[in-house]
Amino acid sequence: MKVIPLGTSSGKPTLRRNVSATAVVRDGEWLLFDCGEGTQTQISRAKLNPSKLTAIFITHLHGDHFNGLSGLLSTMGLDRRVRALTLVGPPGIREYLETLARLKILYVNYPLDVREFAALKAVTTVYETDDYFVAARPLDHRIFTLGYRLEERPRPGRFDLERARALGIPEGPMYRRLQLGEDVQLDDGRLIRSHEVVGPPRPGKAVAYCTDTRPFAGTVELARGVDLIIHEATYTDDMAYEARDYGHSTAAQAAQIAGEANAQRLLITHFSTRYADVGPLYDEARAAFPETLLAQDLMEIEV
Ligand SMILES: [Zn+2]
Ligand SMILES: [Zn+2]
Repeated sequence: MKVIPLGTSSGKPTLRRNVSATAVVRDGEWLLFDCGEGTQTQISRAKLNPSKLTAIFITHLHGDHFNGLSGLLSTMGLDRRVRALTLVGPPGIREYLETLARLKILYVNYPLDVREFAALKAVTTVYETDDYFVAARPLDHRIFTLGYRLEERPRPGRFDLERARALGIPEGPMYRRLQLGEDVQLDDGRLIRSHEVVGPPRPGKAVAYCTDTRPFAGTVELARGVDLIIHEATYTDDMAYEARDYGHSTAAQAAQIAGEANAQRLLITHFSTRYADVGPLYDEARAAFPETLLAQDLMEIEV
């Protein structure tokens, strides 16, 4: 999995940072979390192909997180998209898009599956495929906001071909049965246990996307044990009162949440435009959580 921040500025874009959007790229497809104004341009810069976008997840209806949505949906229509698209978000997003469609501002001519979620009490699956699922739960912001967690399902263990050959197992259907965890009996009567030729299941990777929010126990629950937590860090700690009033976190608070969630790494993002130099935000977070990365537009993070 690869994570590409497409926008890392809070509230409004700057010349160096666009507003919120993050791509998660997997084999043959990618997912988009938030879609601030100008995300289409960032998608081009990141060389992502919109026809391979399979789902969009919107956190909340503040403009810096969704003002690019209708433009992106329109462009995909102009580009004659045929592939179905899933759109997950908070209540209101369907009415917003339907209103634009009624006013003939937006025209979507491909299958669009809009899923609104409100008042989820626990972490709930909102989108899934054979390989992974995305779960959501509300965060603690000024308006209703969803945080998301993308988690790959465990993959079967590695098949040890050399060992299988050495044991004299005939190539073919038996390999598949062993790979699926079955034991097989050979023609000579020997029983081969699956674990003799198949390694232990490989755990999937997980990423949590947590913005905008105050520091919140629900975020810890959502992001527990992830390989990468993407958490907003709008302010430095001397602005903790403003952060709380506006429903945001400081960099030190983001670090604390990453630690409590037992995340492997933290990516801080959503920086206030008051910081021309985001170094102090990075320093603050790293002091509390050394495995911190500082988000920059279009950087690529391998997970
Ligand atoms: Zn925001
Ligand atoms: Zn917001």
